[in-house]
Amino acid sequence: MKDDVVIRLDRATAEDLYVALNELGEHIAAGAPITPPTAEEVERLGRLLRDLAHSIGRKCNPHCDHLE
Ligand SMILES: [Zn+2]
Repeated sequence: MKDDVVIRLDRATAEDLYVALNELGEHIAAGAPITPPTAEEVERLGRLLRDLAHSIGRKCNPHCDHLE
């Protein structure tokens, strides 16, 4: 479909995304603590957020010049 967004994730990033969303949900629902991510998780999730931002037409940061 025309407005669909498709992002392909490697296994590690998919696992990081699952954990982040799951912990966020548990945090919102029941105040469960959020585990601080490792440096590698921060790196992978940062790349995912950047790619997702671009794929929906958003800037990845205030100075982003990756969009046309
Ligand atoms: Zn950008």
